[in-house]
Amino acid sequence: MAQSLSKASTDARRIKRLDDSVVNRIAAGEIIIQPANALKELLENSIDAGSTMIEILVKEGGLKLLQITDNGHGIDKDDMKILCERFTTSKIETYHDLERISTYGFRGEALASISHISRLSVTSKTKASPLAYKCQYVNGQLANSNGRSDPNAEPKPVAGKDGTQITVEDLFYNVPSRLKSFRSKSDEFSKIVDVVTRYAVHTNQVGFSCKKFGEPYLVLSTRPQATTEEKIRSLYGSEVASELLNLNLTSEELSGVDRSPTQDFGLLEVTGFVSNSSYLNKKKITHIFFINDRLVSCNPLKRIINSVYQFFLPKGSHPFVYLSLKIKPENIDVNIHPTKRELRFLYEDDIMEIIRDKLHSLLAATDSSRKFRSQNAISSSKRRPDFDEPDSSSYATHQPIKKYRQENRLVRVDASQAKLESFLNKESSATEETSSPGGAQNLSSSKQDDEVSVGPDANMAQSSYSYNDTEWTDVKLSSIISLKKSVSESADRDLTNIFSNCSYVGIVDEKKRLCCFQSDVRLYVCDYGAVLNELFYQMTLDNFMNYGEMRLVDGVALEEILSALYKSTDEQLKPIEEVILSIWEMKEMFETYFKIKIFEHEGEHRVSCLPLIAKDITFSMSKLPFFFYRLGSLIDYEDEKACLEGIIRELALLHIPEPLVSDEDSEDSSVEHDNNLLSKKEALEHYLEHRVFPLLKQKFLAPKEVDSAVVQIADLPGLYKVFERC
Ligand code: ADP
Ligand code: MG
Repeated sequence: MAQSLSKASTDARRIKRLDDSVVNRIAAGEIIIQPANALKELLENSIDAGSTMIEILVKEGGLKLLQITDNGHGIDKDDMKILCERFTTSKIETYHDLERISTYGFRGEALASISHISRLSVTSKTKASPLAYKCQYVNGQLANSNGRSDPNAEPKPVAGKDGTQITVEDLFYNVPSRLKSFRSKSDEFSKIVDVVTRYAVHTNQVGFSCKKFGEPYLVLSTRPQATTEEKIRSLYGSEVASELLNLNLTSEELSGVDRSPTQDFGLLEVTGFVSNSSYLNKKKITHIFFINDRLVSCNPLKRIINSVYQFFLPKGSHPFVYLSLKIKPENIDVNIHPTKRELRFLYEDDIMEIIRDKLHSLLAATDSSRKFRSQNAISSSKRRPDFDEPDSSSYATHQPIKKYRQENRLVRVDASQAKLESFLNKESSATEETSSPGGAQNLSSSKQDDEVSVGPDANMAQSSYSYNDTEWTDVKLSSIISLKKSVSESADRDLTNIFSNCSYVGIVDEKKRLCCFQSDVRLYVCDYGAVLNELFYQMTLDNFMNYGEMRLVDGVALEEILSALYKSTDEQLKPIEEVILSIWEMKEMFETYFKIKIFEHEGEHRVSCLPLIAKDITFSMSKLPFFFYRLGSLIDYEDEKACLEGIIRELALLHIPEPLVSDEDSEDSSVEHDNNLLSKKEALEHYLEHRVFPLLKQKFLAPKEVDSAVVQIADLPGLYKVFERC
């Protein structure tokens, strides 16, 4: 032993030609790695043969037996002799054909490969032939009945139906190392079932069935005439099926004209079904992607889909996705991977963006759950959708998506990305972390999170905040359910889309409450007073009975709060006693539903607790007098729905930041006043950008009425035109 080793190291090593059978076996092993690969090839052949019914029988995970029976056009007796030679195919003749072929398999390699690593037999009957013929193959050659390669062997006439039956036995019998690598037969079986399931979802007019050898029942079966939705229902269950959205790109969307009017991306069709944002599913379902009717794994597609869903689904929830793309065959290179599971195509980045935009708008427009999942939205506002890659297992995740740069259409701001401001203003933003506009920042800008002393009104007692994140009360009141329903029904798709893509730019006029935001390539001015009124209404409704508490130790007398209003106006107001009485009479309702707690003490009616409608959303104490006056004078307490809606509307009003009064409007024009105003404006900017806009982006269902509060003032392509002229 030692001798032969040292001999080998001294002699120059000679190159030897490997035996043909070894070469073929190696080649086959690259194409067929596991039984599911063989099955995929065989399925594709059967579909190519125009079958309408395909039956699959499996024993020991496909390693012992893999049999597929179809009713397609069959194989001619004369072709059966060369069927398993390498590069024999009926599907292409010239290299040019390779470039425009639209059938599934085309390299004439599958059957040849399988014959090198298994005992293969084929029985087939064409319509024209009165008989079926059966052949056995070994190492690419016809074999005789002993299973040995025999050039003189002939197809054997047998009785049989139109179509083809392919039987693969003892897969990898001659590749023991591969055989040992399979850990469990049931794993291999489920991979086979997965492949069949996906082809069954995708392939129209073909029925599929799959069964384990020796077991009486089918693991799956679909009818040829079933619709895609029906098939998804029977294969994946009705829970998924009832939450499906149909995704179908129009020819305009396919052409990507708004991306590049001149370039043809070769995208011919994108169709499919995806689950909506109400479908919360903890188990991962592998996305089903077909490109030109071929089942593929497409990492770029997977990446963009995950990035879109991450925005709509809570962490740990997985969508169902089935997408079928048709791309000009000449733009595709399928030969980058031996198993043809991966492929490349031209304009990949643009095509991905077209699909991403479509999926995003589809989900945004139908996202009825937005409003029911407030707590998620609060925590997810801290996520940064574009950076947080949920699936780090895919190898391509580290490759950044290259963008097709078209300067005038680049979206330059993304709210999810860090801004310069966050680097410059570290100190101030840290202290402002809990601040909010108007008087309320004083309330919360204290050192501790929980126990906070109240500042704005010296006569207000100590208060404390608490927010219960853990328990959630499900509200079954029909009036609230119907109010929620009308919110989702009146949502305007386009407007909601604008908000779901928005990023805050800045305040334009703090007196008129106007601010600027960007959405896609367009710039908008909006009346944030009006928009926030709607947003806060929706949030108050969503979180109904689940508000946080702002406790006022000792309480503040309603008499005292209201008298501020009575003093400051000459208008005819309802007598203060009546206002207080109508609130007091409803005090239990206020406490149970709205966390507004009032108690009587020495003849006064003291408010001891107020609601926090959502985390980090507060209000100005100076608005309290109006709030309580309106509660005591405008609400119809007779009708439950009107009453609840009224109170929720009042709470929304209470939360809209007050207009900031500038110095011309105020008698006080001291430097101190200016500074004060400046810091208020800064706090307001911060509040709008970091508290309010994230909510608008993630939760807001914009009703048509808000339309008048939003005006588009510029778009980037338009501005470019102006600059080009200069
Ligand atoms: P390819 O599919 O690339 O042509 P294959 O090795 O998979 O190569 O198949 C070789 C040929 O065998 C096919 O071109 C087709 O003519 C024929 N064939 C294979 N399976 C079937 C089938 N189920 N029904 C009819 N013809 C088949
Ligand atoms: Mg094939």
